[in-house]
Amino acid sequence: MTTIRDRFCPKCGRPAETDGLCMICRAAETPWAACDTRVARTHCPSCGATKQVNTWTDTEREQAEIAPDLARSAVHFHPNVKKRSIAVEVRDISPNRSRAYLTITGTLYGLSMEKTCTVELVWHKEQCDRCNRITGSYYEGIVQVRADQRDLSPFELQSAAAIATQIEESLIAGGERLSFISDMTESRDGLDITVGSQHIGLLIVQGITAQFGGRYTTHPKLVGEKNGRQLFRITYLVRLPRYQRHDVVRLGRVYAEVEQVDSRHVRVFDLSEGRSRSIKEDEILRRIGNARNAQPAFVAYIAGGMMGILDPETGVTKEYPKKPWQTIVAGENVQVLRDGDILVVMR
Ligand SMILES: [Zn+2]
Ligand SMILES: [Zn+2]
Repeated sequence: MTTIRDRFCPKCGRPAETDGLCMICRAAETPWAACDTRVARTHCPSCGATKQVNTWTDTEREQAEIAPDLARSAVHFHPNVKKRSIAVEVRDISPNRSRAYLTITGTLYGLSMEKTCTVELVWHKEQCDRCNRITGSYYEGIVQVRADQRDLSPFELQSAAAIATQIEESLIAGGERLSFISDMTESRDGLDITVGSQHIGLLIVQGITAQFGGRYTTHPKLVGEKNGRQLFRITYLVRLPRYQRHDVVRLGRVYAEVEQVDSRHVRVFDLSEGRSRSIKEDEILRRIGNARNAQPAFVAYIAGGMMGILDPETGVTKEYPKKPWQTIVAGENVQVLRDGDILVVMR
């Protein structure tokens, strides 16, 4: 006589913990892990980006690093499987094929399970959206960097190019794959930067004018239609200010060194009065040079508010009034720029 109702497995006849199959038979009947026989991955042969569904993503990972994860993605576990683990060994068969040998383990209803399977890894190559646009010479804009009534200085050229490259790197790192620079050319007029999106074009002109002052204008041009949408190309024209920092200019009867330029005003250091002040650009008569290109000249004497400076080119000593703000010592050199016959002493 039993007080507990005995339960037996209908399949193997062993005592069962619950109604129906015992744990062993249940585990044996459950498809606890299944493997797809092949998985594919698409990558760009030019830049290595990978495609998932229809989205390209940049990656630094090599095929050998990706292969085990790709193989693991072929395994589908029953939700009740615990302590899942997959060991993978990959063998390359051809440039387009690899074979992965998987040992899959886990526990189901307290029982340890193990199985092996083989997964074929297929490596598709396809040119990504970005490389496709670059090789197809697709672009959405050109940034033209110019200076107002003068050439760009080598420093401005280099800095503008560096600003553009930095903006490109940060946009690409942020996932804006099509915000690329496809070309950067120095021309006689300045710098031309061909860009893949209007967004990067705008950021570049803003970055350059933030650094150097000046202004930009945008000139859209309709170039066609794609999928019912009008296609524009934009020329962004950047004009750097006519005067640069450290330019030495003539204002009326005095000379001044440019300290800062914005769109309306120029801040100068007046070399006569020895102080900074703000002027309008049209007060400048002309530019005589840049203080960075000044050369040394010998101060022969200082006497009675005058100083004698030896002209380094002619060897003749000329007399100039010594301004009260100037700390100049006889017997030493000062830095000068030449304006015709006149030597202009820098600060
Ligand atoms: Zn059983
Ligand atoms: Zn690519």
